[in-house]
Amino acid sequence: MIRRCRWCGQIFHPPPNKKGNNMQYCSNTCRSMGYKKHQKQARQQYQKRRANTKITIKNCKWCNKEFISTHSKVYCSKQCKKYALQEQYTRATYNYRSRHGRSEKDLYFSNLGNSNLRQKPDTDFQVESQLIKNELKRLHL
Ligand SMILES: [Zn+2]
Ligand SMILES: [Zn+2]
Repeated sequence: MIRRCRWCGQIFHPPPNKKGNNMQYCSNTCRSMGYKKHQKQARQQYQKRRANTKITIKNCKWCNKEFISTHSKVYCSKQCKKYALQEQYTRATYNYRSRHGRSEKDLYFSNLGNSNLRQKPDTDFQVESQLIKNELKRLHL
């Protein structure tokens, strides 16, 4: 079996073993040269991709602060994302409780069961949302 070195183009005979099967260069020198070139290409590609990344100024969906967004980020920080998710969860919980009252089936709700939450959700969303938030804090959710 003969091969052509990927770096210098010379024909070489890889040793007839598993290692030889994967050999693409005639020598260690050629291999490291080829590897360096490969790395350089990879780096160039990466830089090109970075340059193409769209950078836009957006307003954070949570705090409305201006921030530099790459990709499709909509929150300025992890903290804002967390708050937004919490709010979403609170809202979902509220909607669920408005429809079903207290449910023992759901893990979260059964955890909430021994809590300060009343059987029926408060009609005022602000009050209810604060109660749920306190509960989430208490349960470390
Ligand atoms: Zn070579
Ligand atoms: Zn924000």
